[in-house]
Amino acid sequence: MNPTQFKRKKLKAERRSRDPYAPIKDEVKLVCKAAGMRYGDLTLNIRRSKKYPDSCTGHAWWTTWRVALTIGVKCDRAQIAAIVCHELAHILARGDGHGDKWKGTFVDLAFETYGARVKGDLGNQFGLHDQIIEAIREVLQQ
Ligand SMILES: [Zn+2]
Repeated sequence: MNPTQFKRKKLKAERRSRDPYAPIKDEVKLVCKAAGMRYGDLTLNIRRSKKYPDSCTGHAWWTTWRVALTIGVKCDRAQIAAIVCHELAHILARGDGHGDKWKGTFVDLAFETYGARVKGDLGNQFGLHDQIIEAIREVLQQ
C-alpha cells in the first residue's frame, strides 16, 4: 500500500466511524450482495426514529430502486436485517405488493443473507415479517 492509498483508507475509516447510519448501510450491503444487486445502484434514505423506538418501517420503489427506511433507535440488528430484506424483496419482486412472489423473495433473501429459515406457513405480510425477524435473531444469537 502506498502513502496515498493509506491516507485514503484512513479517511474512509474515519468517515465511517462518524456515520451513525453505517451499521444500517452495512446490512443493506450484505443483503444486496446476497441478492446480486449493486449497493451503489440503490437510492437509500435512512432516518432514525425516537418517536417509535422499537419499530422499523420502510418503503421501496421498484421502478427507481429507491428505498426509504425508518429505524427506531432501539431496534436490534435482526429487526434492521428483516426490514432491509423486506424492502429489497419489493424491488426484486417488481410491483408484486405483498403477494406470493414478494413473500418467496423475502424468504429467499433472509436465507441467502443470514441463513435464516422460516418454518411452516408464511402467513400474511405482518406474520411473515415477524417470523423472519425471529429466524434472523436465532441465527445471529448462535
Ligand atoms: Zn412491504
